[in-house]
Amino acid sequence: MAPVEVQQYDYIVLGGGSGGSGSGRRAAGWYGAKTLIVESGRSGGTCVNVGCVPKKMTWNFASVNENLHAAKHYGYTVPEDVKIDYKYFKERRDATIQRLNGIYERNWGREGIDLVHGRAGFVEPKVIEVTLEDGSKARYTAPHILIATGGRPSIPDIKGAEHGITSDGFFEIEELPPKVAVVGAGYIAVELAGVMGAVGVETHMYIRGQEFLRKFDPMISKTMTERYESVGIHVHRGHQGFKEVQLLRDGKGKDKLLKLIHHDGSETEVNELLWAVGRVPEVEDLHLDIPGVKLNNNGHIVVDEFQNTSVDGVYAIGDVTGQAELTPVAIAAGRQLGNRLFGGPEFKTAKLSYDNIPTVVFSHPEVGTVGLTEPEARQKYGDDQIKVYHTRFTAMYYDLYPAEEKKQNPTEFKLICAGPEEKVVGLHILGLGCGEMLQGFGVAVKMGATKKDFDSCVAIHPTSAEELVTLR
Ligand SMILES: Cc1cc2nc3c(=O)[nH]c(=O)nc-3n(C[C@H](O)[C@H](O)[C@H](O)COP(=O)(O)OP(=O)(O)OC[C@H]3O[C@@H](n4cnc5c(N)ncnc54)[C@H](O)[C@@H]3O)c2cc1C
Repeated sequence: MAPVEVQQYDYIVLGGGSGGSGSGRRAAGWYGAKTLIVESGRSGGTCVNVGCVPKKMTWNFASVNENLHAAKHYGYTVPEDVKIDYKYFKERRDATIQRLNGIYERNWGREGIDLVHGRAGFVEPKVIEVTLEDGSKARYTAPHILIATGGRPSIPDIKGAEHGITSDGFFEIEELPPKVAVVGAGYIAVELAGVMGAVGVETHMYIRGQEFLRKFDPMISKTMTERYESVGIHVHRGHQGFKEVQLLRDGKGKDKLLKLIHHDGSETEVNELLWAVGRVPEVEDLHLDIPGVKLNNNGHIVVDEFQNTSVDGVYAIGDVTGQAELTPVAIAAGRQLGNRLFGGPEFKTAKLSYDNIPTVVFSHPEVGTVGLTEPEARQKYGDDQIKVYHTRFTAMYYDLYPAEEKKQNPTEFKLICAGPEEKVVGLHILGLGCGEMLQGFGVAVKMGATKKDFDSCVAIHPTSAEELVTLR
């Protein structure tokens, strides 16, 4: 048998998502490394296809409905029966994503990156075999191989679980279900439940604890859980999970009907069930045992601060490592790795700092957070070293709302300061506009700003953000 041809590269990137693209482009575009990206799905990965981008567009879609509601408090005559054509919106959203898929691929082409569509796995410690879309196989090798294969949503192991959908399936919905169950308490559950609640879907959230977003500052979890309840989202606290899911009727939107059987034997019928119970790293087909890449107990690839795996010349970044699972983190880590591997001696210690990463939850309203939560700060510095500044108010936008509705729309800020110099070690905000508000404060926190620095910045009036520089 003729020997299998193995094509040689400087850099092989497995996964053309946020991290893989960021790293490949840095290596090829900046430093001229001969780079191959292998992508088994749609170019751009989770963020572009089933993550940040369609999620934010859907959040915008829901925000339009909230603004329509606000309009009548401002004196606009808005018909009561405004129709939502979700299919139209979905088609427009899909078209935007398709355009982005093309932009990704064109950018790679412009930087001289070769792209292969197919599923990759190791066949030798430094040889990758790709099963191409037509079923044929091709082999590649490089001194540097990056694993940036991301993750996928998990589904619990219960009878009938497959009748529900995950966040991936959420973006395939063409018709809004009239009644939906969302299982999970993390940011994806909160965001997708928030969207549906905001467009009038009867939304039931099932959470194991008493509040959702429990990894966030307690102010966030408490206020946001209460806020969701106050606007009519049914939050089922302390839920023990479902025993079984039965498909009563298949179809789209109102035509699909599921029966959820709870552990206490009670039953609930819904038109859709969304599992948002976590994500698992995508490592199955990689045959990581061949090079001997180590995994941790959750199945994530173990890396050091330079994204080195346990195997020389094999690196991992992004969701597959379980480190701060966010697009800009994967991109930044990928770029730093590209700098370190191909950027010459001045970059030999290049790495991403994982401290003070700002992040936003696109809930209703948005949440922003950077740095430590209050319990984390108290544990790290000691109670006597921590000073907390807090304010809660209603943004001016809601001034024209009736009192009852005004109450349902809180803005709340918390600044956590440490030490005698009152260094800002945590900043947590929720309310209208917080998503856009956080980035600038993220810079300040990253630079080590103190409370005095915040106070020395002249307020911008009238905004909600000004409250963060006038806290007492
Ligand atoms: C619903 C949702 C909303 C989100 N919202 C946000 C947000 O608002 N902001 C934010 O920062 N982050 C958000 N995220 C997280 C963000 O999408 C991820 O952190 C980011 O995409 C991780 O990038 P990555 O490069 O590690 O992996 P991915 O982007 O997942 O890319 C991995 C790629 O590898 C490919 N692949 C996998 N296995 C193989 C194989 N064997 N061979 C070849 N290719 C393979 C996959 O097809 C995929 O394209 C969201 C995620 C979800 C699910």
